[in-house]
Amino acid sequence: MSRTTVMQRTPGGWRFDNTYSQLPAALFEKTPPVPVSAPAMAVFNHALAVDLGLDVEVLGSHNGALVFAGNSLPGGADPLAQAYAGHQFGHFTMLGDGRAVLLGEHVDPVGRRWDVQLKGAGRTRYSRRGDGRAALGPMLREYIISEAMHGLGIPTTRSLAVVSTGEVVEREALLPGAVLTRIASSHLRVGTFEYAAALSDRPVLEALLGYTIRRHFPECLEAPSPARALIEAVCRSQASLLARWFSVGFVHGVMNTDNMALSGETIDYGPCAFMDVYDPGTVFSSIDRQGRYAFSNQPVIAHWNLARFAEALVPVMGFPEERSVEEAKEALAIYPGAFKRAWLEAMGAKIGLFAPAELDIPLIEELLEWMLETRADYTNTFRRLNPEGDGEGSPGWRMRWMERLLRQTQSLGESRGLMKRSNPAVIPRNHKVEEALEAAVVGGDFAAVHKLVAALAKPYEDTARDPDLLEPVAPSDMPYRTFCGT
Ligand code: AMP
Ligand code: MG
Repeated sequence: MSRTTVMQRTPGGWRFDNTYSQLPAALFEKTPPVPVSAPAMAVFNHALAVDLGLDVEVLGSHNGALVFAGNSLPGGADPLAQAYAGHQFGHFTMLGDGRAVLLGEHVDPVGRRWDVQLKGAGRTRYSRRGDGRAALGPMLREYIISEAMHGLGIPTTRSLAVVSTGEVVEREALLPGAVLTRIASSHLRVGTFEYAAALSDRPVLEALLGYTIRRHFPECLEAPSPARALIEAVCRSQASLLARWFSVGFVHGVMNTDNMALSGETIDYGPCAFMDVYDPGTVFSSIDRQGRYAFSNQPVIAHWNLARFAEALVPVMGFPEERSVEEAKEALAIYPGAFKRAWLEAMGAKIGLFAPAELDIPLIEELLEWMLETRADYTNTFRRLNPEGDGEGSPGWRMRWMERLLRQTQSLGESRGLMKRSNPAVIPRNHKVEEALEAAVVGGDFAAVHKLVAALAKPYEDTARDPDLLEPVAPSDMPYRTFCGT
């Protein structure tokens, strides 16, 4: 964003700018976080704070807990709750940040702009019947899984801190309350555009379009139709993201259009989880009874969500209506091809292929089928694959795989290197996450959370130190169920 204001560095190392609040007022409500009774730091992401150029001495102390709880506003912050809409399980609803407050955009020392958002910061205009609060368990869970995604190299929002509030929240039981500080390239969503389109106020939609393009895809400004170029850019980044999810067995769980970020980052860690045994039908969320957001359906749903995005942009495509609809459809049509290419690249790398081609698809799919039949662990199967070993894949498959590897110009050693960089040893296994959360929330002991987060920061390294992190759950403990945890 090019702005002339000189941003002051304020205590804590913040350098806040507030460009979102310059957008038309229909898109947000200025509202401060609601203070909590007894803030205490639960986890603080020291490495991320350093990366953002923040003052770790100040923010790692009780002073930081006050900021991350919303009790003390950092200098330069101009808090607001964003409006957005969403297709939730296929049904359209007007929504907004019902329990999150954007403090502003922190501009780090190398000029990157980051939204700083407090999740669980109290009621806003968009809270509907909700209490505006969050529970400690789910906020720690978002912290662990989002940081795991980052460690895996997959675009994601980050977690800077979790503070406990000293208050209880009423859910299925009385639970300890918490606030999560979420860091994101932005919180612009497919649903933000759906909201603007539903207002039927063209200048609002135009302002949002210009803002999104300048913030994330400035190259689109040069295109004959910036709106069409934006649809294509978002299709490409989502295609790449969905392929990366597939490559690590990630199930988001609630891919509503309000939970799809235009930046291409994974956002909103509710009932998400990683698969153990490979099964394309894997569903974890207790509320996803139809399997709408099942593992292998995610790329299809992403396309469906992108269609809602393209529809919202029709009024600002810059052509007469009929042509605008055509252009939006054409832009959207690049998604399946983009996903297929991204999938092939990500999955090809997992079996050691440097330039996977269409002809390699059956080779990849055959290994997946073998996993399904033998109920093999997704992560461990790929991690153990070794062209010179045996065990993973049928003997016939192994022969075809070896022949294919030998046709590459790269050596087998180089293929093994690629595989090691593409196949994590450690993922946040559900039973390990639950164990760590239980110890923290019930026992007040954060050692297991810290140990897990440390291992997940380097998932491609061999972790002989923590062999228990590599084991899938005992079959008797399946199937795993996650709850929205709001
Ligand atoms: P989610 O399922 O987390 O994407 O949330 C969907 C919508 O519900 C968003 O607009 C949230 O801000 C809102 N929401 C979720 N939990 C609460 C809560 N406890 N209080 C108020 N709003 C909430
Ligand atoms: Mg959400």
